[in-house]
Amino acid sequence: MGTMDAGTVADLRAALRGPLLGPDDAGYDAARSVWNAMIERRPALLARCAGTADVRTAVQFARRHGLPLAVRGGGHNIAGSAVCDDGLVIDLSGMRGVHVDPDTRLAQVDGGALLSDVDHETQAYGLAVPLGINSTTGVGGLTLGGGFGWLSRMLGLTIDSLVGAEIVTADGARRQVGPRQEPDLFWALRGGGGNFGVVTRFEFALHRAGPEVTAGLIVFPEGQGRAVLRRYRDFVDTLPDDLSVWAVLRRAPPLPFLPPAVHGTGIVALAVFSTLPPDAALPRFAPLRDFGEVLGEHVGAVPYAAWQRTFDPLLAPGARNYWKSHNFKQLSDAALDVVLDYAAQVPTPQCEIFLGLIGGRANAPSAGSAAYPHRDILYAMNVHGRWQDPADDARCTAWARAFYQACLPYAAGSVYVNFLTQDEAGRIHEAYGANYARLVEVKRRYDPDNLFRMNLNIVPSGAVARVASSP
Ligand SMILES: Cc1cc2nc3c(=O)[nH]c(=O)nc-3n(C[C@H](O)[C@H](O)[C@H](O)COP(=O)(O)OP(=O)(O)OC[C@H]3O[C@@H](n4cnc5c(N)ncnc54)[C@H](O)[C@@H]3O)c2cc1C
Repeated sequence: MGTMDAGTVADLRAALRGPLLGPDDAGYDAARSVWNAMIERRPALLARCAGTADVRTAVQFARRHGLPLAVRGGGHNIAGSAVCDDGLVIDLSGMRGVHVDPDTRLAQVDGGALLSDVDHETQAYGLAVPLGINSTTGVGGLTLGGGFGWLSRMLGLTIDSLVGAEIVTADGARRQVGPRQEPDLFWALRGGGGNFGVVTRFEFALHRAGPEVTAGLIVFPEGQGRAVLRRYRDFVDTLPDDLSVWAVLRRAPPLPFLPPAVHGTGIVALAVFSTLPPDAALPRFAPLRDFGEVLGEHVGAVPYAAWQRTFDPLLAPGARNYWKSHNFKQLSDAALDVVLDYAAQVPTPQCEIFLGLIGGRANAPSAGSAAYPHRDILYAMNVHGRWQDPADDARCTAWARAFYQACLPYAAGSVYVNFLTQDEAGRIHEAYGANYARLVEVKRRYDPDNLFRMNLNIVPSGAVARVASSP
């Protein structure tokens, strides 16, 4: 632990407004656990920061004492980059404030806020930021990687609504960034992950959406998946921006609108979403019902904030998870056959394959306008290996890896940084493409000693690093 001794730790504790936790403190084990139970790390200290002053103190402390440093937002990152072994974790879970100004349509969001915090405050005015699909995800990590969800086809990525941020950089300085203040750093934050500092506050432009939207699920048997997925692909190829349909292949959970005989069987679920009211949206989703035999359906008006929580039970923390992901510009028949082949072999009932539809307004900005470069893809496909028993580690990761390999010939050759696991540092060029060189330049300027390296690391030398392992 570098040059630290007990007196030094006591000084840090006294200098913070929020609590400092070490291995002997109550709450240490809960504080070091993250969404993915595969990640088991033991930090020396966790500073549960209460505000920007605490964050500055903690950053300066880590630098001065040569400690590995991790930053925890919502703790969802699949690679476990929110925690490190033996070092200091800056834990932002005590900084979840959200302040909405409905007149200017701007929201100030603290760096540790969850998606549900933002949805709760913004929906009170029928306003929204396009965020992800699981309400317990952290705004911090999601935004810094790009951020997409149900609203993205209509309103763009999360970063496309980011208009400014307060950040504490490696030198301990607080900086206000935006299109005209430190524009290179602002560019890098929009996709470059946690490489550049600790964002203590995000400022988002808000959009009209909700409080009611039209959304739900239409479920088909996996046995008809070939026809369903091909017709789905053709349908979304010409889909207007105000509609979205994602496809999920998995074993059917015990949803009340599905007959009990269907529970546990292989299904293709089409998840539909639109901000339009049901009378406008439902007729436009009607053709989906002809794609095959509908096993069950639940589509209609729903509060947007409730829809944002719909998938939370399937994505609860505490399970073991291993993901593999590809972006796709299009899905050929052969690619869909691979998807179906591996969906039929899911090693546990919790595993799933999803095709997240992006495109629309998310592809309007140019590839160089922000660090996130993938403005030409239509789908982000993710294979969720998910299980409970450590004895299943090998066969579940093997399934995900084999699926990834089988899809490789059909994929776009790019990947969303927020879906990368800890063994995928070698895919950094897939994550950043032509924007990588500029990211390295910004990294050299703001974090030349690579203090912020628990992430898909942009190394100041331009070399490829390991991901989210203890340095
Ligand atoms: C169940 C689930 C569903 C998901 N759904 C979506 C989705 O619909 N759309 C989507 O785009 N992504 C989605 N993701 C991916 C998600 O965006 C990433 O996992 C993201 O890293 C989570 O952010 P976090 O703050 O919760 O994670 P953390 O693990 O806390 O942080 C992730 C990284 O971001 C850094 N970081 C976090 N906050 C800050 C901050 N304030 N300042 C500086 N660095 C920070 C951390 O240091 C770390 O490197 C999902 C993930 C999960 C597990």
